[in-house]
Amino acid sequence: LALSSSANSTGKSEWKKGDPVPYSALTDCFEQIDKTTKRTLISSYLTSFLLKVALNPGKDGGDLLRVVYLCINRLCPDYMGIELGIGESLIIKAIAQCTGRSVQQIKTDLRTVGDLGLVAEQSRGKQKTLFKSAPLTVPFVFKCLTDIAKASGNASQARKVGIIQKLLTPCTGSETKFIVRSLEGKLRIGLAEKTLVTALAHAIVLKEVGSKKLPEGKLADILAKGAEAVKAVYRQVQLSNIIHNRYSDSSLLKGGIEGLKEACKLTPGVPLKPMLAKPTKAIGEVLDRFEGKEFTCEYKYDGERAQIHMLEDGQIVVFSRNSENMSAKYPDLVESIPRCVDKSVKTFVIDTEAVAYDIQEKKLLPFQQLTTRKRKDVRTEDITVRVHIFAFDLLYLNGESLLQKELVERRRLLQESFHPVEGEFAFAESSDGSSSEQIAEFLDESIKDGCEGLMVKRLTSADSTYEPSRRSINWLKLKKDYLAGVGDSCDLVVVGGYYGKGKRTNTYGAFLLACYDADAEQFQTACKIGTGFSDQMLQDLYNLLSPLELASGKRSDIQADMSKPPDVWFEPKVVFEVLTADLTLSPIYMAAQGLVDERGISLRFPRFIRIREDKDADDATTSEQIAEFYEAQALASKGNRGGGGND
Ligand code: ATP
Repeated sequence: LALSSSANSTGKSEWKKGDPVPYSALTDCFEQIDKTTKRTLISSYLTSFLLKVALNPGKDGGDLLRVVYLCINRLCPDYMGIELGIGESLIIKAIAQCTGRSVQQIKTDLRTVGDLGLVAEQSRGKQKTLFKSAPLTVPFVFKCLTDIAKASGNASQARKVGIIQKLLTPCTGSETKFIVRSLEGKLRIGLAEKTLVTALAHAIVLKEVGSKKLPEGKLADILAKGAEAVKAVYRQVQLSNIIHNRYSDSSLLKGGIEGLKEACKLTPGVPLKPMLAKPTKAIGEVLDRFEGKEFTCEYKYDGERAQIHMLEDGQIVVFSRNSENMSAKYPDLVESIPRCVDKSVKTFVIDTEAVAYDIQEKKLLPFQQLTTRKRKDVRTEDITVRVHIFAFDLLYLNGESLLQKELVERRRLLQESFHPVEGEFAFAESSDGSSSEQIAEFLDESIKDGCEGLMVKRLTSADSTYEPSRRSINWLKLKKDYLAGVGDSCDLVVVGGYYGKGKRTNTYGAFLLACYDADAEQFQTACKIGTGFSDQMLQDLYNLLSPLELASGKRSDIQADMSKPPDVWFEPKVVFEVLTADLTLSPIYMAAQGLVDERGISLRFPRFIRIREDKDADDATTSEQIAEFYEAQALASKGNRGGGGND
């Protein structure tokens, strides 16, 4: 472990016991991380720093949490909905005001430098300071960022600019750069959340071990076990939820890893990241993958994923695929769910799909109908589009997590604990038959009933446990429409826009889309899409995207061929779901570059399906998924050439 050699090297800044952690100590650590791409080094720098903070977490004991949050650019768990990511123009205004430069000068620099953090740092460097302000501390920075994120209402712009100034004035060295990048919502130092999870686990273990002498090999062993335990917790609840305030520093640190595991147990009210499925292109592929093993086919409903929790006090909370609290969007669900619950049930977490429903015709409506529902301040009496819940999993019941139980058992408990209510709640239609004909028949039925296809799931054995946040091979999706294409649609981030021609000069006419490489924190371009949009759609997209235009041009975390840049670059926020005929190696696009070939992979003839409002840029199709699609396609075409037919 490189840790021992770097244990004392994480920065010049030291602090006395009980003092708040200086912000410069954190930014020194960021600088070190920024200078390397080696995961082990990044992890050891961070472990050393987190250990130092863990040993001396400030007077209120809260600085370890704050530091971890600042490393991932968050202020609280995602589901609480308080986010950083301030618009570029507001930050430019604040930088101008506190450096005495003009907005225009800053914009000009930004176009050349491409990083507002650096521009701010350079602008501060040019300034003469007359008096020295007190140095920034982690709790102060954290509080200011939280105040900015929470500011709303008419005067909020001016308040935000005021707080940013308060933050920037005492900055020295690279502090300015990191404050600005935090405000923008991305640190851009190549620090993957996974690495932070490992480093946090190591720091907790090392703190517990203290100065105890351990036999050779023992330390490495408990470090590895600690990291595995924290990763398992992480898969369930996401880092920002692990360190949710109510778990507080003390439970992060007390009782070491075991204490953490105990504190982070699945709890109604705290969403867990849903299990995801792998796409398949043919029934034959499903049978190959699940050969000889027990599985079940369920209808794949075309709605919105809804993870529904009932808390001890009877409160119902609905979370989206993205852990967003959707209870305000679905007051009708919150009201109706208790009617479907057996009296014996006190607390639960169920995994379901909420589908638009025609109560008169008793039939499912397409997903588009669901999108016409208002997202906020919905009053039950104003609802025109009804939703029907189709429950397919039970994750928690009466104080007990069921994640480790087999699906067959979870399903039994689900059906025992809930009862269908016509037009409101039902269990997902399922069929446990496993011949090719039975699957084909059930697939056809699902389509006739208004579904997208099937979800095929392992039913028994350790392979049928619920795997939070994992795209698992134990869940396969079979979408009828996509059997002819690459097996699934892609969800890509809009990173650039091209102005329209002719009638469409006032809107964008085409868009540059990118996939996401989570390890490198980079967006990689995958295709340009410009057909299939009506004039009205283009106008709506213009309204949505133009506020995201970047004065600075391309952000450094977007990998793109610059010989033909788009007319404008966007902040990567909006996600398009697109279909493609096939994938091809490309000298121009960068998706999955280096994974299957030196060239990138691009989508041919992409077709727009819809905006994925339930996905953030970080949830876009990943580079690995694009590589997997490409390889599966190559394999299928080889099979076809060799005469090995596929259904
Ligand atoms: P992914 O979540 O895999 O990135 P996605 O959000 O685009 O993809 P799909 O590829 O359409 O979703 O497939 C998975 C989704 O299908 C689930 O997230 C869930 O919302 C929905 N779904 C519908 N019926 C079921 C079911 N019976 N079991 C599991 N998921 C189902």
